[in-house]
Amino acid sequence: MIIVMQRGASKRAIHQVEAEIKRLGFKAHPIYGVERTVIGAIGDERGNVGLQALETWDGVERVIPILKPYKLAGRELHTEKSKIKVRGRVVVGGRTLHVIAGPCSVESLTQICTTARAVKAAGATLLRGGAFKPRTSPYAFQGLEEEGLKMLAEARAQTGLPIVTEVMKESALELVARYADVLQIGTRNMQNFDLLKAVGQLRTPVLLKRGLANTVREWLMSAEYIMAQGNMEVILCERGIRTFETATRNTLDLSAIAVLKHETHLPVIVDPSHGTGHYEYVEDMALAAIAAGADGLMIEVHPNPHEAWSDGAQSLTPERFAQLMKRARAVARAVGRTM
Ligand code: PEP
Ligand code: MN
Repeated sequence: MIIVMQRGASKRAIHQVEAEIKRLGFKAHPIYGVERTVIGAIGDERGNVGLQALETWDGVERVIPILKPYKLAGRELHTEKSKIKVRGRVVVGGRTLHVIAGPCSVESLTQICTTARAVKAAGATLLRGGAFKPRTSPYAFQGLEEEGLKMLAEARAQTGLPIVTEVMKESALELVARYADVLQIGTRNMQNFDLLKAVGQLRTPVLLKRGLANTVREWLMSAEYIMAQGNMEVILCERGIRTFETATRNTLDLSAIAVLKHETHLPVIVDPSHGTGHYEYVEDMALAAIAAGADGLMIEVHPNPHEAWSDGAQSLTPERFAQLMKRARAVARAVGRTM
């Protein structure tokens, strides 16, 4: 339920309502707007009768139900777009678009530092690199694990770029969170509910990739899992879904951006690298994503894609990435954004 406070309701009235929400066994999520405060009461909906009575309380204007199942991720309670702050500097979800770039996997200190410097020079504001890799084959390279995380930290120290890296399992969360500025939940883990709850306990921002066979609604329910634990710092990432089409690795669902704009206040970024699976298609889809309203991009870049240990076919050279950034800036300007 949403408890809409009257304009100018006193702090005392707001606190009393929050206390009553908690007494009834709900979590109170106050949103202090410029005009008025609204308080979300989130919990087992069978207790809604008690909440309805708040309508008679001092300072309360209305009590209305939240109709969508994603109460915290949806726009009913939280009408303004969320801005997710990374390392106190990079703000995802504002007018400025952000680009996360770097190799699929961290392979060596030289590889990650060279890439970090190149993508920074081209305008990327966050560095990506997997140290724990979800691979289709158990015989494929699985990631450098903590060694890889240390290399990412060194690349961050050299360039100042915050790190986005994947956490695959709860047992590694404590370790990965010690290094990561943004915790990536990969497509295969979008419905790993225990992992979602665990990252929800932290306050590190989470990049939640869309499951390769999941609907927008299921995706938002996964965001809800994280937020219900108290971590509101969620960035969504469209990375393509499985369809009958085989010309591309996945089908990049850009219509999801339009849908999400209506359904959620969370920022949405697009990963055309995994979305297409081929370096020649990445730039076009990156531009399309910005035109469609994405808040940023995630792009795989490798100093020598032919020698990449994973996802070489979809990785851009630093030169191609710089060209993409140049064109992306022009599209961003055309749709009223900066980069
Ligand atoms: C990745 O970002 O390298 C990755 C494995 O992505 P996804 O989970 O979208 O396949
Ligand atoms: Mn990859």
